[in-house]
Amino acid sequence: MSRSLLLLDVDNTLYPPSRGVVERVDALINRYLVERVGIDAAEVDAIRRRLWSDYGTTLHGLMHRRGIDPADYLRFVHAIDLGELLAADPALVVVLGRIPLLKVAVTNGSAAHARGVLDHLGVRALFFRVYGLERLAFVPKPYVQAYQMVLADLHALGRDCILVEDRAVNLRAARQLGMRTVYVADGGPPAPEADVSIGSVLELERALGRDCILVEDRAVNLRAARQLGMRTVYVADGGPPAPEADVSIGSVLELERALAALA
Ligand SMILES: [Mg+2]
Repeated sequence: MSRSLLLLDVDNTLYPPSRGVVERVDALINRYLVERVGIDAAEVDAIRRRLWSDYGTTLHGLMHRRGIDPADYLRFVHAIDLGELLAADPALVVVLGRIPLLKVAVTNGSAAHARGVLDHLGVRALFFRVYGLERLAFVPKPYVQAYQMVLADLHALGRDCILVEDRAVNLRAARQLGMRTVYVADGGPPAPEADVSIGSVLELERALGRDCILVEDRAVNLRAARQLGMRTVYVADGGPPAPEADVSIGSVLELERALAALA
């Protein structure tokens, strides 16, 4: 059976990094480290880098190393005006609305922040559930436990899910659990960890279409299918192969050979 759940990261996945949301949150994380934790401003960057690489997120590191209150931290660092940075995205509404999978947001931020982003983009009604760090016992992606908590709560298995994410490091654990992974590269190189890399979430249908193989005798019918990411087999019946097709065969009786070529 095909996959039924679409797990979507929120920040820098549902909108491009150029919107500047993550920069604003980052600036507040730095302020938190200075004002609430008492770290010298000159050391903040180095300490954050270490916490990120050792604990996945700054918050996770601060909880372990400094015993801070995670709720207070999340309130502090997400106190930004999303309305200044994000606007309704009708194209995203159309793309997500057309994908017939249950959509679930999984973020390393707070649920309130994630819901705010979904509200400003105009897509909140399309989401079945939002998992912020509070619901994951503050264990962030890329830890496998974060995904396991989401799956347990959804009564789902990894093989039921497709994860869409802009941080390549977060894909690995998802793959270990059997999820299919889509990396949103935003102009960067594709991620070798991902099953598919796309430039923007607006290309998601193309990434998901790869689950389908269209078998067709009219070459003109292949083009739109390819635009949606489907792989295509052209049945030539003695005619020339179709350049639009991934594979051309003489008759449908050769389909096994075509599928082997596509595998
Ligand atoms: Mg992200």
